Formats: sequence, structure tokens, C-alpha cells
Amino acid sequence: MIESAPGPKCPICRKPMVAAYRPFCSKRCADVDLNRWFSGAYVVPGKQEEDEDGETVPAGKDEPGA
Ligand SMILES: [Zn+2]
Repeated sequence: MIESAPGPKCPICRKPMVAAYRPFCSKRCADVDLNRWFSGAYVVPGKQEEDEDGETVPAGKDEPGA
């Protein structure tokens, strides 16, 4: 392994991180990450869980006991 910059890297473009824009390498990359939040890229997984929860509970627990 030969790497000249073993420090943390920008999660957007993999360039060496710049302390001023931590954890990114530039303001541009910070903006890219912010845009992902606004576009809902990080919100999708949570919504599916809600749907499953409401369907698993009421199933075979309310038997009349004929
Ligand atoms: Zn970057």
C-alpha cells in the first residue's frame, strides 16, 4: 500500500479532506451532500419500516374463540 495522504477522504469525490470543509474537500462537495438530503435520498428507508409495522401486529391475535 502506497498512499501519500493517509488522512480522511471526502465522501463525495474521495479527494483528501480539507479541515475547513470537514468532512469534505471543498464547499462544492459539501453542497452536493446537502442536496442529497433535500432530495430525500436519506429518507426513503424509514418510510418502508412504518408500513411493515402496521401490518404485522393485528394478525391472529383477535380471535373470537368460537
Ligand atoms: Zn470532494
